[in-house]
Amino acid sequence: MPEPFIESSWTKPDAPFENPLRPSSLAEFIGQGPTKARLDIFIQAALMRKEALGHILFSGPPGLGKTTLAHILSKTMGTNLSITSGPLIQKPGDLAGVLTNLKPGDVLFIDEIHRMPKAAEEYIYPAMEDFTLDLMIDSGPNARTVQVNLNRFTLIGATTRSGLLSAPLRSRFHINLRLDYYDPVSLQEIVQRSGALLHVFLDKDASLEIAKRSRGTPRIANNLLRWVRDFAHTQKQQTISYDLAVSALTMLSIDEQGLDEMDKKILSVIIDHHEGGPVGLNNLAAACGEEAHTIEEVYEPYLILQGMIRRTPRGREATAAAYKHLGRKAKKILESEQ
Ligand code: ADP
Repeated sequence: MPEPFIESSWTKPDAPFENPLRPSSLAEFIGQGPTKARLDIFIQAALMRKEALGHILFSGPPGLGKTTLAHILSKTMGTNLSITSGPLIQKPGDLAGVLTNLKPGDVLFIDEIHRMPKAAEEYIYPAMEDFTLDLMIDSGPNARTVQVNLNRFTLIGATTRSGLLSAPLRSRFHINLRLDYYDPVSLQEIVQRSGALLHVFLDKDASLEIAKRSRGTPRIANNLLRWVRDFAHTQKQQTISYDLAVSALTMLSIDEQGLDEMDKKILSVIIDHHEGGPVGLNNLAAACGEEAHTIEEVYEPYLILQGMIRRTPRGREATAAAYKHLGRKAKKILESEQ
């Protein structure tokens, strides 16, 4: 029987032009100063000792640069990168093929590592620690395991929910780095850099406005930039001015704080349908027509950061800032008026 996992999910080594906006060295990677400084030391030391990098865990919301850093690390070390993600690994054996194919120093990147099944997780421990793998041979009464030695490789795990990682798995990473949302000035630099790569001319205040509405996330900044560029082309404008950027972003219903239609829907469901909460996550997801884990991992962290939502044991609550943002009267004022 063909092995579905190997056929469908392992990507070939990185195609260099796959994403033209991806920085290809730590020097080009903007922001995240402390993380970059630590990685720099980690790389220098490994290069000096001519060893593979130790295993690295990146955590943080989507779109902040975890995959990009994995590309940068393998490139800097001069090794190959193989990419997969936790949900694609269905059984322990799915890992055997790729692990045995890794050459010395190669990097294996597992995205969403918190969604890897428990059995696969246990299978990977000896590979991470001793670079060995127990392979099951034959089945039934003849079943036996043989131990296979692996080349020393680097596992880079990425997770949006580091709290869901088991303690034994977390402790097997040599360094655990958290990526934070970017400040507007770093994002503005990213927008300027991407603009130059896409041959788009941007006024400074236009790039800052795009940055401010990007929810602290480079992936969103790049997507908004592409949209603003398309908008400018249809308006036959060569240079993107502040006013043009604001018109383009308003057309996407992205407001000054970067909230889009789904964010506003989440807030209005809590405020208008549940009197400000608390409302359970599944209830909220059903009312918004979105997956619960997308709400939890993509939308909620930014709303919490903006101080608009509170997580409580009984569910999600809207704060006074959320009422203000939607132009609703705060709950307390409404109650005192009754
Ligand atoms: P994640 O793996 O955390 O979801 P990615 O590494 O895929 O995020 O990053 C999303 C996009 O954002 C990348 O394609 C890259 O172009 C851009 N990007 C991320 N971080 C940076 C950065 N620090 N500087 C410039 N561009 C970045």
